[in-house]
Amino acid sequence: MLTQLVAYQNEFPEESADRAVPTHMKIHEYQAKEILSKYGVAVPKGEMANTPEEAAAEARKLFAEGASGVVVKAQIHAGGRGKGGGVKVARSREEAEEHVKNILGMQLVTHQTGPQGQKVQRLLIEETAAIDRELYLGIVLDRATGKLVYMASQAGGMEIEEVAAKTPEAIFKETIDPAVGFGAWQARKLAFALGLKPTQINQAVAFLQSLYKAFIDTDASLVEINPFITTKDDKLFALDAKITFDDNALFRHPDIKALRDVAEEDPLEVEASKYALNYIKLDGTIACMVNGAGLAMATMDIIQYAGGSPANFLDVGGGATQEQIEHAFEILLSDANVKAIFINIFGGILRVDRLATGVVAAAKKLNVKVPIVLRLEGTNVEEGRKILKDSGLNFEVGATMKEAAELVVAAAEGAK
Ligand code: GDP
Ligand code: MN
Repeated sequence: MLTQLVAYQNEFPEESADRAVPTHMKIHEYQAKEILSKYGVAVPKGEMANTPEEAAAEARKLFAEGASGVVVKAQIHAGGRGKGGGVKVARSREEAEEHVKNILGMQLVTHQTGPQGQKVQRLLIEETAAIDRELYLGIVLDRATGKLVYMASQAGGMEIEEVAAKTPEAIFKETIDPAVGFGAWQARKLAFALGLKPTQINQAVAFLQSLYKAFIDTDASLVEINPFITTKDDKLFALDAKITFDDNALFRHPDIKALRDVAEEDPLEVEASKYALNYIKLDGTIACMVNGAGLAMATMDIIQYAGGSPANFLDVGGGATQEQIEHAFEILLSDANVKAIFINIFGGILRVDRLATGVVAAAKKLNVKVPIVLRLEGTNVEEGRKILKDSGLNFEVGATMKEAAELVVAAAEGAK
């Protein structure tokens, strides 16, 4: 979540509709594997299924082709599916059909979905692999150095965050110089660090390089193979695959953009994206409406500092229209946790009077009941304040950002 916020950028204003998709677009495992296999990364044989019939047919086909087992895998945009019961191995067609019945349509709860879980609407049916070792590979941008870092670990198949926290020395890292790229020597170094057999090294080097090429070509922001497996007959496979993409580069990849599955995203975030609003839902009680990502971050901080908790991140942008402000209000109010609204606007491109007109119209139209606190500065601020005062609605205006934050926290507490 925080990386999403920190990564917020606004480089392509002409692509405003594109910018509104999540900052790092996620895709499903089966889609990631399709992309990776085009780059020569070895993945198990398999197919996505939307219905029990499709799943049964795919399982039948794999058994007919000689598979000794198939694995039924829930496709949701979250990890930890194995532990949550969303990944099951079957040794017969009947067993596979039983797993399909149980997993398809289930509300799958993992450490990444939150307690409400995520409904499983698609499956991946794959041939099982005779796993020897479960390893880990990942490529991610290291924001501290501004370079990509290639990570490898022998502790695959488990939560890598836990490995990183408890035994950081178990994760090997190679920093990639952007001018040079990922060197074959670096791939060899990682392959040896993984404790691979001599007969597996060349295969592993090719695997690691293909993965890197896929990352670069697709403008990915993260590629993670967990587990990266070796088999009893010395083969290497990506048994799981996660890729996220940099939203700001999606305009270069219409084929990747088409892989977006809005059924997996927060409904309020999807709604916000329709109106080009940069909205990210959080768990607190104070809704925020702010212009500018930096000010939005600062607003969330000052709410916390005043003892409250933000219900969302929302940047309405510089050129917000009245319609956008109304939709923003609707989205904020659709969150049942919201107890008060904090509107923090610095009028630059967005003039304060225009904002105030939009806010008054939206508050009247939507019959807003929760308390609203504003902090306004900038162009036409006096006109803006007058519009609010004359509206007859009950707005509180803080003189400073700090005072406004304290007012809104008190208002949220009073509303409990
Ligand atoms: P995740 O839990 O969401 O990360 O899903 P994974 O795709 O990583 O699967 C979880 C675990 O299921 C893996 O770490 C493996 O131990 C196991 N698993 C997945 N596919 C297979 C398979 O084909 N054969 C066997 N034996 N185990 C598998
Ligand atoms: Mn995994």
